Amino acid sequence: MTELAGKRALITGAGSGIGLAIAKAYAEEGASLFLSDINPKRVEDAVAAIEAMGGKATGGVTDVADSAAAKAMVDAAVTHFGALDILVNNAGILDDLYPVADTSDEMWNRVMGVNINGAFYVSRAAIPPMIAAGGGIIVNTLSISSFLGGRGGATYTVSKHAILGLTKAIAVTYADDGIRCNGISPGSVETNISTGEGWPPLGRKLREKGLATRPTRAKPEDIAPVAVFLASDRARYVNGANIVADAGWTAY
Ligand code: NAD
Repeated sequence: MTELAGKRALITGAGSGIGLAIAKAYAEEGASLFLSDINPKRVEDAVAAIEAMGGKATGGVTDVADSAAAKAMVDAAVTHFGALDILVNNAGILDDLYPVADTSDEMWNRVMGVNINGAFYVSRAAIPPMIAAGGGIIVNTLSISSFLGGRGGATYTVSKHAILGLTKAIAVTYADDGIRCNGISPGSVETNISTGEGWPPLGRKLREKGLATRPTRAKPEDIAPVAVFLASDRARYVNGANIVADAGWTAY
């Protein structure tokens, strides 16, 4: 399969779950990868996994919530490849379903720092080299919490609404520069994002309500093909879109 042959992709949060599945799917399609994660062991294992598949990958450890580090990561990827064709803003953390009144400043700043500031910092650094190269593709991992109020806690919900806004702003602003920016909204996916332990009572109540209509959880590999499509030329007319991959959870 060679749908992304010759393409050079940077993926954040690539060491686990959806990011790792996207990395594997992109490698299967012939892309060269720069894999980034805050967890050094996960980066190392992800690069090894891609190489074991016969794919091309290098990696680096970056906290995307750190503005300077995010810029340095993009610069390193551009230097490594010569240019960047695809950016996947995937790194994200959950807020353990804390409601507004129980959300600490620390929780708010930490979750917003990764989920929206991080995507902003990385996109801001990646767009100029993409424009200089004649265009590029940005794929953001959103969530059904990008448009619903009860599938995450307060901070997660706000951060995911915000990254949907970022997706649309980039799509509209840079369409004439050859940049497409789209999002994927997974429903519930089996990953390492949360154990469900330590959630507050209101969060547990919210979860119980959601469970009543939740379809079978996805595997990360169920989400990755959407990211392949959005990065491919088949999606050349798709820009500013939010593709929901939730087995119908939000249609219920
Ligand atoms: P995951 O925890 O398995 O993977 C996330 C990865 O991001 C981890 O490897 C983690 O080390 C990394 N990461 C965390 N903070 C980081 C930081 N500051 N800088 C760089 N990397 C960091 O979780 P996942 O479920 O695969 O999450 C990936 C994305 O999918 C997130 O944006 C999440 O909000 C979104 N999402 C997940 C689900 C779900 O049900 N799992 C549903 C909808 C959306």
